[in-house]
Formats: sequence, structure tokens, C-alpha cells
Amino acid sequence: MSHYPNRFKIRVDSVTSMGIDIESELSVLLLDEDTPLEFIDPITVKVHASKVERSIAVKGTISVRAKAACARCLNELNYLVERDNFFAFVKIPHDENIDLTEQLREDIIVSLPIRLLCSDDCKGLCDVCGTNLNERTCECTHTEFIKESAFDGLDKLMDLKNKQDNEN
Ligand SMILES: [Zn+2]
Ligand SMILES: [Zn+2]
Repeated sequence: MSHYPNRFKIRVDSVTSMGIDIESELSVLLLDEDTPLEFIDPITVKVHASKVERSIAVKGTISVRAKAACARCLNELNYLVERDNFFAFVKIPHDENIDLTEQLREDIIVSLPIRLLCSDDCKGLCDVCGTNLNERTCECTHTEFIKESAFDGLDKLMDLKNKQDNEN
């Protein structure tokens, strides 16, 4: 079990118009999302909170480490999810605290990459024999090769069509 809190709250009377810096560590359990990433405790929050008339403005950075599988070769990789423009502006409530857990959760979720690669030029797995092509080569005919030849074929077809158009 995580010993970090799973809510992000700020005490209203701790916030002045000069503003205060807040650093906190939160549990990744608050990210109960269905994602292929495995988050590693804690979520680090570094924000500046200040009182603006009857509201509180909070801005700063949120980051959390995660493990994921490379989308091409499936090797495990480490990834840092970072949101450096977290911003919230909330009316001062009658409660002792403002609770920004939902904003924080949403900001992290929208910052997640759609797919991760161990490196930009990861060669992936052979889709015939499963060999990790970053480590070894294999004798199979690869999809990329097939794709290329399909485009070659298309080029020839276009050439042929151009020729015919010119002849007409
Ligand atoms: Zn990879
Ligand atoms: Zn192969």
C-alpha cells in the first residue's frame, strides 16, 4: 500500500496574496485509469498558490515516473510524465481546503503519450518470427519490404498511366 496521500488539497488559510510555494508527493493510486503505463509512486507536485480577490490561483508542475512497454519491440522502458503548465483557478470555498485532485488527475491523463517507443529508430519485432530486430536480423520477408514493393508497384502503375495520358 502507498503511504502517500491520494488527494491534492491546499489549506485555504495558508494561501496569502503574496502566494506560497507548495511541494507535495501524492499516491499514484489517484490515477485509477486504464492505461498501458504502470505509474511509480509518488506523483510530485510543485506549485505556487496565491490569493486573487475571492479566488485562489494555483500553477506549477506535476510529474510522475512510469514504466511501459515499447510499442514496437515490447521492451520495458521508463518514462517521465511531466506537465509543466498545471493551472487551476478556484473560488475560495467555505471549507478549510480546496481539493484539486480532479484537475491534477485530468492534467496527467491528457499529458500521456498515445504510444511510447524505446527509441525513435526502434526496429521492432519481426511480425513473422518475432525476432527483436534491434538485437538480431532474421531471414523473413518483412512488412516494411512488402509495403515498399507495393508503393513501387503503384509508382509503375502511375508511370504507365502518365505514358498512356501522354500518348492520348
Ligand atoms: Zn523498441
Ligand atoms: Zn523474422
